[in-house]
Amino acid sequence: MPVEDALAQLLKLAESAPIVETEQVALAQAEGRVLAEALIASLDLPPWPNSAMDGYALRLADWQGEALPVSQRIFAGHAPEPLEPGTCARIFTGAPLPLGADCVEMQENAEVLQGQRVRFNEPLRAGQNVRPQGQETRVGESVLAAGTRLGPIELGLAATLGCATLRVVRRVKVAVLSTGDELVEPGLPLGPGQIYNSNRRLLVSWLQRLGCEVIDAGILADDLEKTRDCLAGLGQVDLILSTGGVSVGEADYLGLALREAGELALWKLAIKPGKPLTFGHYKGVPVIGLPGNPASTLVTFGLLTRPYLLRRQGVQEVTPLQFPVPAGFDWPKAGNRREYLRARLEQGCAQIYKNQSSGVLRSAAWAEGLVEVREGTTPGKGDTVQFIPLSELLG
Ligand code: AMP
Ligand code: MG
Repeated sequence: MPVEDALAQLLKLAESAPIVETEQVALAQAEGRVLAEALIASLDLPPWPNSAMDGYALRLADWQGEALPVSQRIFAGHAPEPLEPGTCARIFTGAPLPLGADCVEMQENAEVLQGQRVRFNEPLRAGQNVRPQGQETRVGESVLAAGTRLGPIELGLAATLGCATLRVVRRVKVAVLSTGDELVEPGLPLGPGQIYNSNRRLLVSWLQRLGCEVIDAGILADDLEKTRDCLAGLGQVDLILSTGGVSVGEADYLGLALREAGELALWKLAIKPGKPLTFGHYKGVPVIGLPGNPASTLVTFGLLTRPYLLRRQGVQEVTPLQFPVPAGFDWPKAGNRREYLRARLEQGCAQIYKNQSSGVLRSAAWAEGLVEVREGTTPGKGDTVQFIPLSELLG
């Protein structure tokens, strides 16, 4: 199955199971959440015309070029008096323009004379250095659409409009399962044939960054009975996310247990790393089974599961930014799967990590992004390849 088909199917599945419950949260709690309704401006921004500079405000139509007396000083945060005809006002950045003024000259271009009079030496233009009312936003305008993910910039924007709380989609509840008899948690000694469980940490941290509520179900032994019990004990979640144990190996009990109690599709994805991926349902709860090798987990989570989770929360924009870069490497062997090479940009060219094996998570720690090598292609030095920054996938 080509990557784009798998993604299209997952997005369709996500749309068929949207998270509909919403909650009102304080801005301080809204980082990483998804806006449930459009944010409508309840005021003009700026709310009144104000000065963009420290300087002097005057009314251009009344001015013949003569020096003007200063009739008031207006600081930010204070209400001015209307401008006395034939005078100017000392004004500071962000202070409201006095009624009657339509122009600000910055102090560097004004000459202060004896007796609190000011001469303006440059030609002046109406509206200069004035930020008009509603320049940024008019009351009633939609400034953020429903389905927008809230980051520092969106939260700052909500704050400029005076919002203390926002209505967001409730968190997606994800149960994370790591399958495999070989897995041991960090901090415990390794027995013969055992390795440390890396996927659990990788996925739990990543899901938390994506605003999910994580139920960490720990390590699941390769045992049919235990697998059944574990699934039955998960309770109400929105997604069961597992790693390992879902290919066609003899110890792939998760697949067996899911087939017994629900439905399971085994996809052979044209993606490398990460060929086997399963999608199914357990008692109505969607299940995504990612391949166990850590680099495969990373690629299939980043490119397929992340967009699925975002779309379930109503996010439309789920495609990571990518851009073309010249390859700084040779890839002479064409593959029949789309490869995502762990890569870095060096002097504007993509360089790849020396070991691209699906078990090597260190490749991704070294990398800044993924280089996409399309099926059947053999890019060489100087050829254009697509680069997806890891930062696009991790947040
Ligand atoms: P599996 O899909 O269960 O056959 O696992 C494929 C490979 O990934 C095997 O080498 C596993 O030992 C490894 N693996 C599976 N799960 C994890 C995990 N949580 N952390 C590290 N390696 C894993
Ligand atoms: Mg296994």
